[in-house]
Amino acid sequence: MFTSFLIKYAEIGIKGRNRYLFEDALIHQIKFALKKCEGTFLIHKTQGRIYVDAETEFDYDEVVERLQHVFGISGICPVVCVEDEGFEKLCDTVVAYLAEVYPDRNRTFKVQARRARKNYPKESMEINADMGEAILDAYPEMRVDVHQPDILLNIEIREKIYIYSETIPGPGGMPVGTGGKAMLLLSGGIDSPVAGYMIAKRGVKIDAVYFHAPPYTSERARQKVVDLARIVSGYAGPVYLHVINFTDIQLYIHEKCPHEELTIIMRRYMMRIAEHIAKETECLGLVTGESIGQVASQTMHSLIATNEVCDLPVYRPLIGFDKQEIVEVSEKIGTYETSIQPYEDCCTIFVAKHPVTKPNLNVIRRHEHYLDEKIEELVKTALETDEVIIVE
Ligand code: ATP
Ligand code: MG
Repeated sequence: MFTSFLIKYAEIGIKGRNRYLFEDALIHQIKFALKKCEGTFLIHKTQGRIYVDAETEFDYDEVVERLQHVFGISGICPVVCVEDEGFEKLCDTVVAYLAEVYPDRNRTFKVQARRARKNYPKESMEINADMGEAILDAYPEMRVDVHQPDILLNIEIREKIYIYSETIPGPGGMPVGTGGKAMLLLSGGIDSPVAGYMIAKRGVKIDAVYFHAPPYTSERARQKVVDLARIVSGYAGPVYLHVINFTDIQLYIHEKCPHEELTIIMRRYMMRIAEHIAKETECLGLVTGESIGQVASQTMHSLIATNEVCDLPVYRPLIGFDKQEIVEVSEKIGTYETSIQPYEDCCTIFVAKHPVTKPNLNVIRRHEHYLDEKIEELVKTALETDEVIIVE
């Protein structure tokens, strides 16, 4: 029955003179999202509205699900699109539409016509009144309510005529690509994929870096991160995932530094390496899944220590979230089941029994000097292990 979708967008409607950039980015993302769907689609902008017209048979559920992954879309209206064959015929179509979409018609409604094609013989007000009457004739159980109707029946008269009344919620946010690019530190945990989702939702394209420590972390642990990147890419578009071998750095820190500072110092090296790759790939910031107080390395004191080593801004979209709130998002976006698979993480293997929660910066810096002999070389070697996986 439905052959088109009207795409509603909220925030990007208010960007003034740059509006068309946002609309074009949204159209680009919609095209990309629908590429994997069966069927061909024409995506076009007409009088400030974006439509997706199916040009062939398609799988309705699949298309709706894909569109629900496209940031920038606030609502998806499935549209019945018909040729103009006179007003009477149109009323018949609308009556049939109501029967199909609303098996229970004991509801109030309002007809809202928009005459975009000015040579149509009836004016909007007239369409509203006459069609309302035709509906009441067909379904005496329905009632008109012009203030708060249960069903707002939109009739748009263009070259063709568009009929729609339902709005399926979209994910909101801004179209990916309108906000620059950032480098996500992606581990196999629950938090960082959610952080990536949230930053992408604001229109930021993401690349990712994962530090693995073979043989202490397995191939399965690495595959889990690839899987998570793939789920995030369902929203964020293709993700360039950099996999860095971190083993030698970790062993060296373990050998030279006090164990209760291991996590912090290790994290500082992760940030340094991530920033290095970020700068080479035109990323404008780093993104982590940290949240204040979640673990010892995420207290305010510890965050100062990890922040200090980079000059790019570090974005932490989950900073004020409770674990439960993060879990809820991860369930919603579909990363949770993958995140909880029990594969070891490089940080858990080298973790100290009593990590510092209030690291002193001067002390940390001093202890990092214990690494002077070999660390530069090790970082260089680690960067050479960079394996880029394009995940989509
Ligand atoms: P997550 O669930 O994202 O793993 P976490 O609660 O386990 O987070 P930590 O292990 O302290 O927290 O890591 C904090 C952040 O550091 C992560 O959210 C992630 O952004 C980054 N990070 C940690 N380990 C790695 C890793 N092996 N590779 C890349 N980034 C990492
Ligand atoms: Mg982790």
